[in-house]
Amino acid sequence: MHIRTTIAVASLLALLSGCTDGPTAAEAPAPTASATTGTALPGQYAAYAAGLSKPVVDSQYPQHGSDALDVLHYGLELAWSPTERVLTGTATLHMRPTRDAASIVLDFKPYTIKSLTIDGQPATGSVNGEKLTVQAPVKADVPVTLVVGYRGKPSTTPWPTTTRGDNHPLGLTVDSDGGLWTMQEPFGAFTWYPVNDHPSDEALYDIAVTAPSGWSAIASGTPQEQQGNTFRYRSTVPVASYLTTLAVGRYKKATATGPHDLPVTYWYHADEASYLPMMKKSVRQLEWLEKHFGPYPFASAGVVMVESPSAMETQQMVTMGERFGQMGARSFDGTLLHEWAHHWFGDAVTPADWRDFWLNEGWALYAQRLYEMEVYPNEMTRTERIAQGREYDGIYRKQYGPPGRPNAAEFGNTCMYTCAAGMLRQLHQALGDERFFALARGWVQDNLHTQQSRASFTAYVNAKTGHDFTALIDEWLDSPTTPAETGPLPG
Ligand SMILES: [Zn+2]
Repeated sequence: MHIRTTIAVASLLALLSGCTDGPTAAEAPAPTASATTGTALPGQYAAYAAGLSKPVVDSQYPQHGSDALDVLHYGLELAWSPTERVLTGTATLHMRPTRDAASIVLDFKPYTIKSLTIDGQPATGSVNGEKLTVQAPVKADVPVTLVVGYRGKPSTTPWPTTTRGDNHPLGLTVDSDGGLWTMQEPFGAFTWYPVNDHPSDEALYDIAVTAPSGWSAIASGTPQEQQGNTFRYRSTVPVASYLTTLAVGRYKKATATGPHDLPVTYWYHADEASYLPMMKKSVRQLEWLEKHFGPYPFASAGVVMVESPSAMETQQMVTMGERFGQMGARSFDGTLLHEWAHHWFGDAVTPADWRDFWLNEGWALYAQRLYEMEVYPNEMTRTERIAQGREYDGIYRKQYGPPGRPNAAEFGNTCMYTCAAGMLRQLHQALGDERFFALARGWVQDNLHTQQSRASFTAYVNAKTGHDFTALIDEWLDSPTTPAETGPLPG
């Protein structure tokens, strides 16, 4: 997610070590690895083995998601009526209970349940608060198939923060033309389908959306063949629920070809045609990111414009708020690069707990600043950037606390971006270009499609570099004041 505050500006500054001549050769794709549990899946469920996860209860937002279920695959069949403003859906969830239980509990609102079956047999259930409870005894590691038919008018859920400039309700939102868009970090997918709404339970997806004639439906995943006015998208690698997206509207479509013949799709409204050249920078951005961080980890890419104040790295289909188009090409360029960087840092390698949000935003902001320093070299000198970055680092630590110790009531605070990016700049300074970018590429390519943590990041850095950086990482993540600058490692 991009942060849009006054500081973003200067921001950042931070950061850069000034090294721009990183390795140019992209590494070969690593084998796809899923966060498997070692569980053998029977019969039809074996096809969804890449959706195996080890769900946990979140340290920041324990009311969303559950460690009792591991959803392997979501099959969503949706239809949107702009005139009625009603969403109709059938959700088929292939899931592995992680323990014996008397019922299944998922995140969901605000729909009326029209039908409910478990393994083909009728079941009873209800939606209360933001939970769907299905009365059905389940056993640990015995997969079940839940099918939920539902209908209703979408409504959002509050964002757990108060001070961000782009603070807005989360979840499926109806726009001024009767179309749909979503923003759902750290949660909110449950406003359009029943879900174990937590990044530790990534899953595979098939999303089909029927839109009225003349309208289009856009979602996360790889586009499949369109049938009538039903648009289909498939994710064959795991997706965290906060990285799914749905947009419906009177869209225009443009296509392009990215690195390695990557199919790229741009979706925009008729009055947003002037944004198309900005969207088309995606190809150059993906090439820049591949040069620094290795192969793009997915089978397609796209950008969809929506009526939102924010921007989000939704998987294979970046969701861009129209505000960034209104702010002009320079702002759009930096923000879009940021969302694409998340496809390496956040989408392909995902934090298992929102406590480690810095792991997403530190990397994405640092990548953004490296890019901006290269593409806009006259904006600020390296010395000015570092001085300004340290100044803001100090302000943010005082205002929000250090990035490794987040306050749940301040989701997405600026320090989790800037202060964490400062830590990465220290690693870059210590290691130099060659070893730093080898570390960055290795972190992504060795951990593709897994969930990670601060502990696993620190262990990886130390193992990959052969140097114990634990104290440096801990200080930058935990200190209430800005740590001292450190220089290159000896030798
Ligand atoms: Zn971000």
